[in-house]
Amino acid sequence: MGKALIIGCGGVASVAIHKCCQNSEQFSEIMIASRTKEKCDALKEKLQSTTKTKIHTAKVDANSVDELVALIEKFKPDVVLNLALPYQDLTIMDACLKTKVHYVDTANYEPEDTAKFEYKWQWAYRDRFKDAGICALLGSGFDPGVTGVFTAYALKHHFDEINYIDILDCNGGDHGYPFATNFNPEINIREVSANGSYWEDGHWVETKPMEIKREYDFDGVGKKDMYLLHHEEIESLALNVPGIKRIRFFMTFGQSYLTHLKCLENVGMTSIKPILFEGKEIVPLQFLKAVLPDPASLGPRTVGKTNIGCIFRGKKDGKDKTYYLYNVCDHQECYKEVGSQAISYTTGVPAMIGAMLVMNGTWTKPGVYNIEEFDPDPFMDALNKWGLPWKEDFDPVLVD
Ligand code: NDP
Repeated sequence: MGKALIIGCGGVASVAIHKCCQNSEQFSEIMIASRTKEKCDALKEKLQSTTKTKIHTAKVDANSVDELVALIEKFKPDVVLNLALPYQDLTIMDACLKTKVHYVDTANYEPEDTAKFEYKWQWAYRDRFKDAGICALLGSGFDPGVTGVFTAYALKHHFDEINYIDILDCNGGDHGYPFATNFNPEINIREVSANGSYWEDGHWVETKPMEIKREYDFDGVGKKDMYLLHHEEIESLALNVPGIKRIRFFMTFGQSYLTHLKCLENVGMTSIKPILFEGKEIVPLQFLKAVLPDPASLGPRTVGKTNIGCIFRGKKDGKDKTYYLYNVCDHQECYKEVGSQAISYTTGVPAMIGAMLVMNGTWTKPGVYNIEEFDPDPFMDALNKWGLPWKEDFDPVLVD
């Protein structure tokens, strides 16, 4: 039994909050705190009569350490689950340090003015978290998140050494719009319009955006084009998987998405450099976000499935071995259960699980850790229990 402070009340947070409420044996009380308190109140209104979890709400600006500290001191949570945006990671970590409360997030810190996904800022907190006796669990979504847990599980149970990892993220969902992003548009477009990169033989190999394309036949979805992207878990897995030679990340995109994105890029709408518009500074990408469909509104109209997982190649007992671990998730089933599409669902469920394991002491160790640094077994069991069952394939088709 414990208390969680959940910061943010968007697509991912909504799922995590539904899941905490389903899991009231663990989450006796939650505080939903975000910039727009009305969203927190609306969710409380929807859920309070369905759960034994006591729900509180508050307004907070997560850019303000003082506001966060005051809220934490008032509510006294056992864990803070950060489901706001990557820009707020460091202020929330600072507030956790000041109040000595555990911290969990799903995306690494990113400065607003440069689209750079790196762990260095958060890893710099390692000694301070250790000295304070509190734990920070970084990246407890699906990717990063479950992909790291899958890696730790493969290493623990199936390999002596993993040499190659291909992370495949397929969204076979169709929302019927010509162009929309299925999580925060600003973060999503920053991610996909950046240069691609992968890890090989101890260093990064950089590619142009969408330069490397492959086709893959996904269980539950079918054949899809996928493109190599930089993705944040590559950085930590490269350090935490001994003997690793190459890690790549591929994500599927439909032709309509890519054509629209190219056009928006060509006209400057995806830029994060502020411009002067009618005497006011605006960031084109933030303006674009304001005119695109809200990802939270995609739930009712998205049909199809996601398939996200990792193909591992390495050695077991001196022999070559291949192993594919993945989850298939249906957009409409998620919507029926929690009112969200599968992208929010596949992130919100692991966020709840990570917060639970840190809160109840299963995964608590002082310091700052990426998810693959913990024992994967309790997380793998929880995935099966809380709506993201995984599948194994011992003879998968490989990506060339
Ligand atoms: P949304 O934009 O839907 O939600 C973000 C929430 O944070 C909103 O409620 C927003 O408030 C709130 N917020 C933003 N700034 C502040 C602030 N300064 N103070 C308080 N609250 C604030 O995003 P998503 O739910 O799609 O994504 C949430 C996080 O999950 C992101 O960090 C994203 O990168 C991560 N993610 C991780 C994935 C993974 O697999 N690891 C996959 C998908 C997402 P308001 O309602 O007022 O706008």
